[in-house]
Amino acid sequence: MIARVMGLVAASVVVVFSAQTAAAQQRDWPPHDTTRPRPPVVNPGPAGAPVPPPADAIVLFDGRSLDAWQTGNGGAAPWKIAGGMFEVVPGSGGIRTRQSFGDVQLHVEWASPNPRHGADQEPGNSGVFLMERYEVQVLDSHGNVTYADGQAGALYGQHPPLVNASRAPGEWQTYDIIFHRPRFDAAGNVTRPAYFTVFHNGVLIHDHVALVGPTAHRSRPPYQTHADRLPISLQDHGQPVRFRNIWLRDLER
Ligand code: MG
Repeated sequence: MIARVMGLVAASVVVVFSAQTAAAQQRDWPPHDTTRPRPPVVNPGPAGAPVPPPADAIVLFDGRSLDAWQTGNGGAAPWKIAGGMFEVVPGSGGIRTRQSFGDVQLHVEWASPNPRHGADQEPGNSGVFLMERYEVQVLDSHGNVTYADGQAGALYGQHPPLVNASRAPGEWQTYDIIFHRPRFDAAGNVTRPAYFTVFHNGVLIHDHVALVGPTAHRSRPPYQTHADRLPISLQDHGQPVRFRNIWLRDLER
């Protein structure tokens, strides 16, 4: 009987300990630590046809026009449209949606350049920024090694994806992102952090994880109060990454 009780106690201790360890691991890795374990590779299977937007979706790119997007200063989005997709024009700057959004379900399809150019953080680098602040990394991570919190699907500088579900350069990939914006009280305190759940090529890579603040390079700045609705932006990181079929469902309307 005592042995059984001791066994139960030991089991509970183990559970508590692993929960604490997981939390500590999350906290203790400095941004872009190259010794942080890289997520296991999972082959997501072959690319499919574009995923049709549901009836209540706001379509941000239908294959023909970038009218839903603009430059940082309000000009027409200068990226190249061809064959139902558009491509980053390196050096032209990022683009952002004309409309603003808070909580969303966002679907994005993208493909990194084939053949690959460069290594580490270079090939296929772009990014999907919720509220222009919270980045889901776009990168060619198919056999291309970089720091764990900067590979494809990473919440940049904070959370590596649970697995690396990347497809090869040139193949279409999908992100399905469920994003809940941070909440602030009247004094500017964070009452609830931003949360992400993300699927990469249909594979779960973030399961309701919280950000500690905006995503950034080599730092983890704290939250700063911002509007409840802000644009979504796509990054020009000097690589001709392609996008198609972008739509979202507004979870606050
Ligand atoms: Mg990026």
